[in-house]
Amino acid sequence: MKLVTYLQSGAERVGILRSDGAAVRPLPCPDMNTLIESGNLADIAARAGEEIPLETVTLLPPIPRPRQDIVCLGMNYKAHLEEAAGYDAGAFAKEKPVAVYFSKRVTEAVPPEGFIQSHPGLVERLDYEAELAVILGKAARNVRAAEAGEYIFGYTIVNDVSARDVQTGHKQWYFGKSLDGFTPMGPCIVTAEEIPFPPALAISARVNGETRQEASTAWLINSIAEVLEELTAGMTLLPGTIIATGTPAGVGMGFDPPRFLKPGDVVECEIEGIGVLRNTVK
Ligand code: MG
Repeated sequence: MKLVTYLQSGAERVGILRSDGAAVRPLPCPDMNTLIESGNLADIAARAGEEIPLETVTLLPPIPRPRQDIVCLGMNYKAHLEEAAGYDAGAFAKEKPVAVYFSKRVTEAVPPEGFIQSHPGLVERLDYEAELAVILGKAARNVRAAEAGEYIFGYTIVNDVSARDVQTGHKQWYFGKSLDGFTPMGPCIVTAEEIPFPPALAISARVNGETRQEASTAWLINSIAEVLEELTAGMTLLPGTIIATGTPAGVGMGFDPPRFLKPGDVVECEIEGIGVLRNTVK
């Protein structure tokens, strides 16, 4: 099932996207966080309303206002770890035997077709990161890796937009990852039962039509199951928690010379079975 959040006549709603993406059926639920926390998707989906053509609504990020910061993984694809170390060895050390966790504030996510904010005067090195994001469906504590799939509500695409100069100008990455307009998300959530676990999906990013990132989510260094087992050994993760699993090689800082984003650039992040998340830099 593909779930979306959308605007219709100024009101925010959640619905089921038809498989061809051309229509949506509204759900009797006020927002996606409430839907996830209900633990009752099947019953709510059974009460979906009549189809509305997608062209009559405006898609929003599937979770426009996450309840908590996104849990992010850094350096979780081998080739990306190498390119990052080539850019700044001090900030991105080459040997990362353990998972790198950081968080990303998202006051308001950026919708499909929405704008990535370039923050002139603050940011000079604006970069993109296509990522598979995992959304938890129930409270997770002491999860065993073998059972990790049972905790997943669904998957979406996040562009972990990053200000490299701000990110590496401070000891921690939080500020450089958390600026307004830095988290495009969408276009939908694909519910967990549609994607065999662990997901092995083609992931790519294009800038102005040129392919920059091309990989498979099967190549994660720290798998989703390992991450859930590790984090929940000491930390309760609530339903609606979003985990961004890291980005593959091909980000702007990985090129020589680096190729950072500028206003007018169009960034498309695509994951097989989820869709294309297209945004323009403003
Ligand atoms: Mg990232």
